[in-house]
Amino acid sequence: MEIVLHKEKRNDYCFYQTDMEAEIAERLEMERELRQAIERDDLVLFYQPKMDFKTGLLIGAEALVRREHPGEGIIGPNVFIPLAEESGLINKLSDWVLEEGVRQLKTWISRGYKLTLALNLSVKDLIAEELYSQLENLMKRNKLPRNLLEIEITESTLMNHPELMSTELMKIKDLGISVAMDDFGSGYSSLNNLRRLPVDVLKIDRSFIQDIETDPSDGAIVSGIIALAGTLSMETVAEGAETEGQKKILKNLGCNSFQGYLVAKPQPADQFEAQFLVNNKTTLLDTH
Ligand code: C2E
Ligand code: MG
Ligand code: MG
Repeated sequence: MEIVLHKEKRNDYCFYQTDMEAEIAERLEMERELRQAIERDDLVLFYQPKMDFKTGLLIGAEALVRREHPGEGIIGPNVFIPLAEESGLINKLSDWVLEEGVRQLKTWISRGYKLTLALNLSVKDLIAEELYSQLENLMKRNKLPRNLLEIEITESTLMNHPELMSTELMKIKDLGISVAMDDFGSGYSSLNNLRRLPVDVLKIDRSFIQDIETDPSDGAIVSGIIALAGTLSMETVAEGAETEGQKKILKNLGCNSFQGYLVAKPQPADQFEAQFLVNNKTTLLDTH
């Protein structure tokens, strides 16, 4: 009996080890593939419109990265951003996102369209402490006007090192780049830290929007976030509005702007341009 048990244990161990090895090998392979995708430019930014509640017009876009996989087609960021963050590849990926986003924004500006562009970054980009000089360089090199670029960083990670973040974000804001706290309400912000962080925009997490028509507590939370933002002189953007009903409630609550499938899913640059810039002459720059 004892021998059998022992044997079983050894087998378990063998299985366990084989599983672990397979998992590690798979992870390394995924990392290698992702590194290659970044180096080969197998990435693409999709753009989702951001609409102003007051005017009903487009005010900007959010750029959302995707992978263009040779065999599998378009792969969404939820699949590879966590891997990029864990493996340290995120900084390289963010370099690509910044370069490509600014290149596209410049193209649109040169065609006479006025819009802001929000780029998603990781808190690891902020911690690397090169972000400020990188952004400064990018703005100068591209002669990008102030106040058109925004960066979005997820609430849950931004709150981890408020002092360090605050200093870095201040410098970035001095460049005329605004800072949004993404997925607001999904993390655990202390109000004290929120007050200390130089954030311009709170992006209200989609989880509070999706049931806002039926769940009064979601309405109360969103209303509270909007009031809080007002007190701290921050703007609010609602994420993930899918119905006219949600839009109406958000507008009545005093939210500044919104994004969501109700208007459009994130889409390739040319489609976004055709649908939201070409036909929307009111967004033309005064200078053109
Ligand atoms: P996020 O920045 O909060 O982006 C919003 C996500 O919600 C996007 O998913 C968007 O497609 C989706 N969404 C927008 N409107 C609706 C809606 O009405 N309904 C529903 N169901 N979903 C909606 P996506 O593009 O898959 O991005 C997921 C997350 O990946 C982003 O969340 C962001 O945290 C991260 N991410 C995307 N691009 C980048 C990037 O360039 N760099 C970094 N570091 N992270 C990125
Ligand atoms: Mg975002
Ligand atoms: Mg978000």
